[in-house]
Amino acid sequence: SELIRNLENTIENIPDFPKPGIQFKDITPIFLKPKLYEDVIADLVNFSRGKVDAVCGIESRGYLFGIAVAVALEVPFVLIRKAGKLPPPFIGEKYDLEYGSAEIQMRTGQIKPGQRVLIHDDLLATGGTTQAAAQLVEKQGAKVVQFSFLIGLKDLRGEELLKKFNAEVYSILEY
Ligand code: IMP
Repeated sequence: SELIRNLENTIENIPDFPKPGIQFKDITPIFLKPKLYEDVIADLVNFSRGKVDAVCGIESRGYLFGIAVAVALEVPFVLIRKAGKLPPPFIGEKYDLEYGSAEIQMRTGQIKPGQRVLIHDDLLATGGTTQAAAQLVEKQGAKVVQFSFLIGLKDLRGEELLKKFNAEVYSILEY
């Protein structure tokens, strides 16, 4: 589609950043093109319309699109943050990285039991971050029904890690 072509031409690939061997996808040039940004939001909204009661965005690039999607859907937006930034009360979920571990957190009570939730981030790589986010949501009695991303990196098999949630997974672009 035209959206996919425009995105492919706009997202920059930076080899060997932040480490040798990593092909970093830089999405920031999207924000230089307001019409393209609008088209991305419309596409993500189209995927989720009528299907979710809340949107969770993952810090920090997940906020750049997730909040616009939530506003367009007229549903609450809940921030999932890296550890150490939220005031209490919050709940956290630790997860493994290639070296060491990380933790994400969200304010308690912002997600309500029984809600159908979309988890959104800019990019799906190994799926570790997204999986931890989904566990945070489900610990609070809500159901993750959708995941959306601008980019899915197929080789890293993130989608397989997310299968256990029985949710729809959508990436506008696949690499
Ligand atoms: P995962 O946990 O391995 O799936 O990594 C996904 C997280 O890392 C997301 O929050 C992304 O924003 C970030 N990330 C990983 N690789 C890239 C990249 O190439 N460009 C931008 N963000 C990336």
